[in-house]
Amino acid sequence: MSAPLGLPLSVKRTLVTCSNPSCERYGHPGDKAPHKCASCKSARYCDRSCQRRHWRQHKEYCKVWAESSANNGGHTTVAQLRLKMAYLIWLLRGIPEYVKCMFEEYDYWRKGIKRGFIEFKFYYWEHLFNAIKVIEGLDIYDEMPFVAMPGTPSYAPPGTKQSLQLRKILPESCVNLHEAVQDYMRFTENKTRPNLQHALNVAKQNNDLLVISVSVVLEGTYSTHIYDFLYRSLSWQPSDKGPVAAVPVPAK
Ligand SMILES: [Zn+2]
Ligand SMILES: [Zn+2]
Repeated sequence: MSAPLGLPLSVKRTLVTCSNPSCERYGHPGDKAPHKCASCKSARYCDRSCQRRHWRQHKEYCKVWAESSANNGGHTTVAQLRLKMAYLIWLLRGIPEYVKCMFEEYDYWRKGIKRGFIEFKFYYWEHLFNAIKVIEGLDIYDEMPFVAMPGTPSYAPPGTKQSLQLRKILPESCVNLHEAVQDYMRFTENKTRPNLQHALNVAKQNNDLLVISVSVVLEGTYSTHIYDFLYRSLSWQPSDKGPVAAVPVPAK
């Protein structure tokens, strides 16, 4: 299974960077790490020495990731799953009515001085795939240029155009969308994801963006997650706030 066709290059690039958080190339979009872990086929490294340095931390996850792929017939590695997760975020940002709905939910909690993020949590990867299928089935009615905040997973360097396909929710697609997507959405308090602190701090300074995360349960208590930002006006407004520091992509 290859990466979803509709996923922009910027997001794919963020997901193939070095998995070693103590490596300086970790999470730097554009720095594709060529060396793949042979056992889980998901962790990526600059080279063998970078892999060796990370092994103590990766060992436990490596086993879970390898088992998780084996359990779904070896068709989907965790790395491929994460591309699909990123694709879901990409699809969601192209449904204006739904983005509005996520902001309403977020604003409601934020008023209660709760810090957190909008999370789509799937206990089975099939449910993630189904959510994608349902959104792909919505009619595309327009396309708009998309700009992401610098340092975030969907950021593309100047000169690289990204465009967002806009989808409409028709009354007949409401039930499907509710069961396949909305039922998995929740507001999650920040305590559960210490590695999202930086992203949450950025969102706290700007009412027009929120942190969105997708997580999929792999084996037992293990799960994998990714995140990005959503913008109230769909695309980031450079006038809102200056560039932020690079946000590292969580490795687990
Ligand atoms: Zn590295
Ligand atoms: Zn591995």
